[in-house]
Amino acid sequence: MRLVYSEAVNAGASLRLAPIAGEPDPDGADCVACGRCCHHGPETVSLLESDEARMSEATLRALTVVMDRPPYFRFLRNDGHRCGGLDTSVEGRYPCGIYAERPQGCRDVEPGSPCCMEARALGHLGTSVLFKRSERS
Ligand code: SF4
Ligand code: SF4
Repeated sequence: MRLVYSEAVNAGASLRLAPIAGEPDPDGADCVACGRCCHHGPETVSLLESDEARMSEATLRALTVVMDRPPYFRFLRNDGHRCGGLDTSVEGRYPCGIYAERPQGCRDVEPGSPCCMEARALGHLGTSVLFKRSERS
């Protein structure tokens, strides 16, 4: 998991989703109804070179932004509340709008992982850097 945190990340008061209790389905069946890990502040999910190579030019232009200062990481763009790649066209549903192109960091957040459980408990992605893969086989 390669999430990079900035001072702007944990503006919890501006993130209005309610926490969700309990363990999610380990195979992701609850993710679209949850979406908590896709709610976070700017400069949270950074892109690897391999992520940039996977993304189309249109997606890179529309949904990513490069820092204007060293180390010039490229991040997923967002509005300060959630990832710009999130499809919010249906109320209460949070599918990833760029699922096939999503960065490796997003792929590594597994349902039931520490990162997931923190996001569900807070209602948004928090400060945890314990982005370990869950222990399921
Ligand atoms: S917080 Fe967990 S259950 Fe919710 S969308 Fe993310 S991975 Fe899925
Ligand atoms: S790219 Fe998709 S999976 Fe990753 S934070 Fe954005 S909406 Fe969520």
